[in-house]
Amino acid sequence: MGVTVGVLGLQGDVVEHLAALRAAGADAVEVKTRADLARVDGLVIPGGESTTVMKLLARFEMAQPIVERVRAGMPLWGTCMGMIVAAKDVAGLDQPTLGLIDITVRRNAFGRQNDSAEVPLAIPALGSTPFPAVFIRAPWIERTGPRVELLAERDGHGVMVREGNVLGTSFHPELTGDHRVHGYFLEMVREATKVGKASPAA
Ligand code: GLN
Repeated sequence: MGVTVGVLGLQGDVVEHLAALRAAGADAVEVKTRADLARVDGLVIPGGESTTVMKLLARFEMAQPIVERVRAGMPLWGTCMGMIVAAKDVAGLDQPTLGLIDITVRRNAFGRQNDSAEVPLAIPALGSTPFPAVFIRAPWIERTGPRVELLAERDGHGVMVREGNVLGTSFHPELTGDHRVHGYFLEMVREATKVGKASPAA
């Protein structure tokens, strides 16, 4: 079944996500307006600069419509900055976030030496082959709420989480040729689309 996945196009590495989503089998479109948002079955918030994107979301009046769609079941995936924007709490950030996944993240947490690195990451949900995870000034997850599933850790710190229809990764799967995380998210979107279209029990 064909699904359409949007990539929030206010700032960040949008083009790479569009290409990876298409390679994984989705129709992928850039989302810049509320009308764009209304057309998609799932949304990716890419990497970039979280303080900037929170301001742009407010300016373009996109924050509330995204929150409403996600609360109504639309899958959301935040990569790096996108996960910060989706998080309930951000240590040391004095700015409201979307609060869609019950985690506390710390920005730029892996420190200067590991500012950017490609790390073979064990992600059991994707099979036994390690995932080539690219970290760029990445956040880590320092608290997970009771309904949050921890899908991967790096050096004892959470770097991939899921709570229902919301997925978060500290790293950037769109920057590698391995599209398994995009495939995983597409499955979430396909599932949600089926549930959304299922007729109510008679
Ligand atoms: N350091 C950025 C922030 O805190 C995130 C970096 C990224 O998305 N690659 O917003």
